[in-house]
Order: sequence, then structure tokens, then C-alpha cells
Amino acid sequence: MTARVRRLAVLAGAVLLGGVPLFTANQAHQNLVILSMVLAVSAVAVNIMGGYGGYFSFGEAVPFGVGAYTAAILARHTGLSPFVWLPAAALASAVYALFVGAVAARGRGHTFVILTMTALLLVQFVATQATPLTNGPAGLPLPTPGWSPAYLNWPFHFALFALLVAALLLSARVRRTKLGLGLFAIRDDEDKAATIGVNTRVYKVVGFAMGAAVLGLAGGVYAYYAAFIDPVYVFSVLLSGQMLLAMLLGGTGTLFGPVIGAFVLQFLDYYGNLTLGGGNVRLLIVGGLLVAVTLFFPRGLLPTVEGFARGRGGGPVPGGGGEPARPGRVTGVRERVAPPPDRPMLQVRGLRRGFGGVRAVDGCSFAVAAGSITALIGPNGSGKTTTFNLVGGTMRADGGEVWLDGERVDRLPAWSRAHRGLARTFQTTRLFGRMSVLENVVTPLRAFSWRGLGAVAVSGPEARRAGELLDLVGMGALRDQPAAALSYGQRKLVELAQVLILEPKLILLDEPAGGINPRLIERMGELIVELNRAGHTFLVVEHNMPFVLGLSDRVLVLSRGRCIAEGSPEKIQRDPLVLDAYLGADFVARPASVGKQPTGERLRSPAGE
Ligand code: ADP
Ligand code: MG
Repeated sequence: MTARVRRLAVLAGAVLLGGVPLFTANQAHQNLVILSMVLAVSAVAVNIMGGYGGYFSFGEAVPFGVGAYTAAILARHTGLSPFVWLPAAALASAVYALFVGAVAARGRGHTFVILTMTALLLVQFVATQATPLTNGPAGLPLPTPGWSPAYLNWPFHFALFALLVAALLLSARVRRTKLGLGLFAIRDDEDKAATIGVNTRVYKVVGFAMGAAVLGLAGGVYAYYAAFIDPVYVFSVLLSGQMLLAMLLGGTGTLFGPVIGAFVLQFLDYYGNLTLGGGNVRLLIVGGLLVAVTLFFPRGLLPTVEGFARGRGGGPVPGGGGEPARPGRVTGVRERVAPPPDRPMLQVRGLRRGFGGVRAVDGCSFAVAAGSITALIGPNGSGKTTTFNLVGGTMRADGGEVWLDGERVDRLPAWSRAHRGLARTFQTTRLFGRMSVLENVVTPLRAFSWRGLGAVAVSGPEARRAGELLDLVGMGALRDQPAAALSYGQRKLVELAQVLILEPKLILLDEPAGGINPRLIERMGELIVELNRAGHTFLVVEHNMPFVLGLSDRVLVLSRGRCIAEGSPEKIQRDPLVLDAYLGADFVARPASVGKQPTGERLRSPAGE
């Protein structure tokens, strides 16, 4: 679908929808459209956290109900119209989301679903028990509107239409800002997002609160329209399920999908009730569709239709063979002041971490000198990746200390460590598959700021910088491809560009040459050396001995979670302890000339052939 057709379709839809009361005087039809819009606004709100952030829950009805009760109670006590109290409804729902979000957002997956469901049942209980305020299980009646019955539905219709437009504008805005990019990152890989400086906790809570405020508005209008609040319905799993289903059916994470889904669902519900005799048909429709959509139709209506219109999209990446497209030079990287020799950039002291009976890291201590390329080698399972997880903050240590450039960081969350100049790549690369390569590189954040959340996601100098870094690693030509379409080696290079935008003091590379073709290995080696000359300190885990020994100034050897040796590459290759624990007695010692040499030379090592 071209942008023009899309715009026309949206405009036509808006005119049609906005004018419904003018086109038909049939109350039942007007009612159907109004209920569809209530659900559409709700689904657009749910989509912010559920679609963009990947957090589904069955507790979304709560902010809707909180908004309904807030508007109703305030209107009853003041005698003013519930419309006047809509801002208060939004506020109350947002405050609820801040509290519950702050707790529930600590859990993921099942834990999150259970926490939010529990909150739903708890609030339902309170609403049915707090009789003086809510009129208890009998439900709360609202004042009837004062305007002419001839135009009864009109104000509701236009209020909801305006709300829908506002919700869509908000949703569109979120998609284009850092907040949206952060939420997309959380959806694709939350731990990874934290390691590149995304303050995932704040992003999630802000996402919840934003969606909740919109839900509160929808709830307030709905309560006034229905003239009655049933606590069992507005705090129900069924209502939450309808909101979720509308989003899933139309297209999770799309802008207009939730609206389309909401209308389809309400119309099905309406005609289902008419033809199938009402009653609990709604439960069957919601439950059955929820199962069917999840199993057979996970992308939803809108993406499927757009896919057809576009022809078969998502083809293979052009030139996806793994060759660097246009290798750049490191000149783009900001030159760092050469650090004083022997200042430790990273100090690890007595680090410990166990998994059940396995002591993966067992009192490990070492230091990485500023300005160095330090190698961390050791047999499989010796604890290298776990050490990286503990240093980077992806995992909590059982004990020990981690100091980055003179500051203790082991109690900080991963994103604060990233803000302090610590960057890492992963053994199995972890890019955000559904984002483009360029978006992947602009997602990292060097600092947190509230204003930054609202900044445009891919913009001016930052996008330029990301483009430069992609050129630097030779991936510039693939910037608009989805990251999931890249080859393994290409991903390793993009992941390097991604952490470079943080301008880190220390970069931890976990097997940068693992599983990639020799040309890319060579490029990777050159890059590391060039970046090191530009002032970056590296700690590199690698099994390719010629590669890593040729590259590094110092080598640390890990065995059973402890650092058993350290020294120059020459010394390490002759250390009997290391030969015994890792390299093997028949390891071919390399010529003495393997120190730091001009790029390229050292990578063509004897054992590399
Ligand atoms: P390396 O990277 O040196 O190959 P790892 O740090 O991945 O080693 O693993 C060290 C030990 O810890 C291994 O015995 C591994 O099985 C265990 N281990 C690592 N991660 C986990 C985990 N998440 N759960 C359980 N055991 C783990
Ligand atoms: Mg590993």
C-alpha cells in the first residue's frame, strides 16, 4: 500500500466514522459504533505497552474501570458532568498504573501476567466492598445527560471520536520517539536493551501509565454513556481479553490495527448476539477468537492485508553473503585522550556466581589496563560468558566487586553501567530482529533524561553518526534491512557498531570471531586494533587463538571460574599451567614477533592457514 492510498483510506475512514450520527438515526447502529470506538480507544492504549513493549496482560481493564469510577464518583458528589471529570479519570488511572507498573514490571512473562491479574481481582474486590464510595456489588448509577433525547448519542459519539483521534496521534508519536524505540527494544530483547543503556524500568512504567491514562478516559466516557458501572464487568478478565483480542486481531504493534480489530470484534459480537440468541455468546466469540488468532493468525489483519498489497515482502537481503559492503576507517570515532599507563579500566575482585551446584565463576579476580586489548581465554565452561554477564550487569553476582574506571558498579543496573562507559557484545549476537539495522544502532542511550524520551527516534546528528559507524564496520549498505535478515557475521559487526555509539570506555567482546567467515574475521581484527588506537579499551573472549593472541597486549586465562594466569601473549603460550588447562601440550608456540604490529600483518598468523 503506498503512502498516498493509505492516507486516503485513513481520511475516508475518519470522515465516515466521524459522521455516523449524521448518516443514521438508528439508535442500535449508533450504539454499536460508540461501543466499537470505546473498544478501539482501549485497544490503541493497550497496544502501547502490549504491542510496542511486548507486555500483554489480562489486567488492562483495571485502568478502564478506575477511570469509569473516578468520573462517576466525582460527578455524583459535585453535580458536574462526568465529562468535566475526564482529566481526573485519566490521572487516577495513570497513578494506578504507576504503582502497579512499578511492582508488576519487575516480573516478566508468566509472572507479569499473574501479578496484573492479581491486581485486577484485588481492585474488583475493593470496588465491590467499598460500598459507601462505589455502591458495592449493586453497581454505580450515573446521572442521565441533560441534553435533548433526540441527540442523545451525539456528544458521546463526538467525544469518543475525538478521543480516538487523540489516542492514535499519541500512539503515532510514541512510535516515532525514543520512548517507542526503547519499547520496541524491550519487546525484542529486554536484557539486551538494558546493556545498551535503555532504562527498561522507567520505559515500562511510562508506557503503562500512558496507556492507562487513555484507558481511564475511555472508561470515563463509557460509564457516562452506559449510565451505570458494573464492578464485575469493568474489572473483568473478559473486558481485558476483548481489548487484547482487538489488538491481536487487527495487528499487534501496528498503528491502526487495534482500531480495525475493535470494530471487527464489536460487530461480530453484535451480530453474534442477534443471530445466535445473545447470552454468553460473547464469551465464546472472545475466547474462541483469542485462541484462533494466537494460534493461526499471529500477525493480525492489517499486516496481512498490507503484505498482500505490497506483494511478497521481506525477501532476502541483497548481497547477503556476508561480505563487508564498504569498509570504512576509524577516523569517525572520537579520539580519546590516551589514558595514563597502568591505570586499571576494569577491576574484578573475588567475583562469584553459582548455578545450583555449578560454581561458574568462583572467586575470579583480574584487572584490565586502560588502553589495552586484553584477552580472556579458557576452556568451554570456564566461566567467561558468566563473567561478562556479571561485569555487564545482565546477571547479579553472588559476591565480589566490579570497578569500572575507579567507580564501583556491581550494584548498578545494566543501563547505568552502560551510561558509565561499559559496553558489551554477546556470544550469540542479540540484535533487535524486527528493527532495521540503522534503528538498532540508534537505540543505545548514553544517559537517561525525561526529555530524551520524547525526542525523535532516528534524527539528525545521531542518525548520521550511526550511519558513519555502520560504514566503519562495512555494513552501511544494509542500514535499512531488518536485523533479522542479516548473516551471523554481519550481525556481529552491526552489534559492534551498536555499542560504539555509546562511546564506551571499555568494550567487552564475547567471541567476536566465533562462527564468522575468514574475511569478516580479518575485518573484525582490524577494527578492534583501529578502535583501540583511537582510545577504546577492549576485553575480548575468543577461542580463535591466532586471532586473539595476535591482537592482544595481555592475556588472562580462566579455568573453572578462576583466573589462573595472566601475562603477555608470548608468556602465556609457554605457561605450563595454561598449556595443561587449555591450550594443550602440543600447542604450537608462535614466533616472538607477535606484539602489537601494524594492522593486517598480525592477523595472518601461521595457525590461521
Ligand atoms: P564459557 O563462556 O567460558 O564457555 P559459561 O560462563 O558460559 O562458560 O559457563 C560456565 C558454567 O556455568 C558452565 O558450566 C555452564 O553450564 C554454567 N552456566 C552458565 N550459564 C548458566 C545458566 N544461566 N544457568 C545454569 N548454568 C549456567
Ligand atoms: Mg561463552
